[in-house]
Amino acid sequence: MNNFTEEQYKYIEKIKTITSEYQTIPKCCIVTFGCQMNAKDSEKLLGILLSCGYEETDDEEIADIVIFNTCTVRENANQRLYGRIGQLKNSAMKNKNKIIGICGCMMQEEDEVLNIKKKYPYVKIIFGTYNIHALAEILYKALTTKEKVYEVLKEPIAIVEDLPIENKFKFKCGINIMYGCNNFCSYCIVPYVRGRERSRNEEDILNEIKFHVKNGVKEIMLLGQNVNSYGNDKNDENINFVNLLKKVVKVEELKRVRFMTSHPKDFSYELIEVIKENDKICKHIHLPIQSGSNDILKSMNRKYTREEYLELVEKIKNNIEDVSITTDIIVGYPNETERDFEDTIDIIKKVEFDSVFTFKYSKRTGTKAAEMAGQVDDSVVTDRFNRLLEVVNEVVGSKSKKYINKIVEVLVEDIEREKDMLVSRTGNNYLVYFKSNKYKIGDFAKVKIVKSHGFYFTGEEV
Ligand code: SF4
Repeated sequence: MNNFTEEQYKYIEKIKTITSEYQTIPKCCIVTFGCQMNAKDSEKLLGILLSCGYEETDDEEIADIVIFNTCTVRENANQRLYGRIGQLKNSAMKNKNKIIGICGCMMQEEDEVLNIKKKYPYVKIIFGTYNIHALAEILYKALTTKEKVYEVLKEPIAIVEDLPIENKFKFKCGINIMYGCNNFCSYCIVPYVRGRERSRNEEDILNEIKFHVKNGVKEIMLLGQNVNSYGNDKNDENINFVNLLKKVVKVEELKRVRFMTSHPKDFSYELIEVIKENDKICKHIHLPIQSGSNDILKSMNRKYTREEYLELVEKIKNNIEDVSITTDIIVGYPNETERDFEDTIDIIKKVEFDSVFTFKYSKRTGTKAAEMAGQVDDSVVTDRFNRLLEVVNEVVGSKSKKYINKIVEVLVEDIEREKDMLVSRTGNNYLVYFKSNKYKIGDFAKVKIVKSHGFYFTGEEV
């Protein structure tokens, strides 16, 4: 345990003393916006608050502390946040001890912090992406001084390990392997608000995985903005994503390993080999292409061509049986012509993706793309987006038919009460609904796929 961690545990103990004197157990509520990295950060925030003596509620009105963990990838994300904070004004006025806090990516932007200071004076704590671990310290200051505590760091400090964490699911969890991004795709704000790549130590990652597995986790998702560049900042060629995966699969009792997100420019042949050779590694690769046009890919600063992408997909498919490949597409990026768009449609058909996350380009202030001339008219973007969806539905629908009558292993993740069905997921990331009295959440089951509904299947227990 390093000094910083020890320090935070001292603050946790101090807050515990305070909360133990309350007449009722205080309640906390974490509201999460955005991606899996934020979801993971929220599990850390919740872990800290539970250790401080709070109990969780999903009711923002009655909570003694509400923390909004924000996302800033989209330009208008702040409007949703401001709406939610506005709704809490009355309860903040009635309960002077209520603490409303905001953290995450949006707080790395000075203008947003200034706006909150001015318009929402009842927000008591603000912190950013680089000091999420310091929640106990920040909260302690707020509780004891009754002053507002706004602490947003401009640069990352050391990676802080071993703080409490509360998983949302008991049977699966995400594991950060690195933070930040070095890629500066022209449309993306992430490198500006999450900083440069910082890889965690292998030992810390493996210890965390073992800890969760001991507590019942069967499936983990290794998380990073670009997991393929794990270790590049370590000055040791043995520390890389392939070697990390080889060690992770050796963790006993761990059944499934996923990872997200892969950058096509860094996806190596060695990685394909490791996936192929290890049953524990799920045969699902999320490989964002963003556009099928070389001109647009260049302008996006993606650093691969459509030909290189197709070559990579070919290698993956030739080597990994039943692999599913999913992707992200942005339509309407600045200067996208009809020809560029057709290239995107063409690559979707060529690759036959198993699923496609489609986005209309939206200008994000602070990025290079937002300054570009040639922003595409909204009506054109909408028209292309609708045409894209038609093609995606067609491709995904026809691809999924090959699974009919197959017997697959699934992990039960949820219960769909209305349909009285279990919701489960295959290794290659397809959702399968099936009826069963035998299995429960967290169990593995064998299911025969009966019907394809495009983005999910229904099946029968075997
Ligand atoms: S790889 Fe590109 S899109 Fe992904 S986080 Fe980094 S800059 Fe953003």
